[in-house]
Amino acid sequence: VDAGPRPPRPAGRRRAGLIGLAAFGIVLLAAAAVWQVSRDRCFTLVGEITCRVATDRPRVALTFDDGPTPLGVEAVAPILARHGVRATFFLVGEALEARPDLARRLAAEDHEIANHSYSHQRMIGRPAAWHRSEIARTQALLEAAGGRSRLFRAPYGKKLIGLPLAVEAEGLRMVAWDVEEPATADPVAYARQIVDQARPGSILLMHPMHGANATARDALPLVLAGLKAKGLEVVPAGELLAD
Ligand SMILES: [Zn+2]
Repeated sequence: VDAGPRPPRPAGRRRAGLIGLAAFGIVLLAAAAVWQVSRDRCFTLVGEITCRVATDRPRVALTFDDGPTPLGVEAVAPILARHGVRATFFLVGEALEARPDLARRLAAEDHEIANHSYSHQRMIGRPAAWHRSEIARTQALLEAAGGRSRLFRAPYGKKLIGLPLAVEAEGLRMVAWDVEEPATADPVAYARQIVDQARPGSILLMHPMHGANATARDALPLVLAGLKAKGLEVVPAGELLAD
């Protein structure tokens, strides 16, 4: 059957252009997936990460990231003491080296002091030796201050492959969180949102060490009172993870 004159074939150049575009799209999608994986705080490609402990025991861990800063420690430690609560402080090696007395005080008051890297940079796309030295240097400082924790938290929650491998090689355990402080300047709303989201096995994250975050410091007594009213006991993350 003669179907008449064939339509002109698409030019080879056009086809190559389409293939190139598809390849570019795939590369872009892959890059987006890698980015997503690196920032997903509860997922890791290698090793293990804990965001929340699966338990029915009404216990949660309260974790404070960064520092130590004099402002943060002097504000937080007396509040915790008043409530008879022990918490976990993920400290930055650099800050700890500058003020080991603050870390010693936290450890002496029975809080858990744990590893939050040495320089608090994004820990992706670096050589293995860099990851290991960030972890080991900080671990040595923590132990010198009286710390016994084997927990590590990634700066900005960011990790890909090198960091989880290094954490494992250094014999530590990677811990994230499932309840994050809300972006509000109102201490009452701040505390209410944290307490509302907390459930047995939750790991809560606050940043009271930063000068600008007065909300976290002001809200802490409300958070502790709210958790108690909800029947949730606060324990250091290491003890929660042992459940
Ligand atoms: Zn941090």
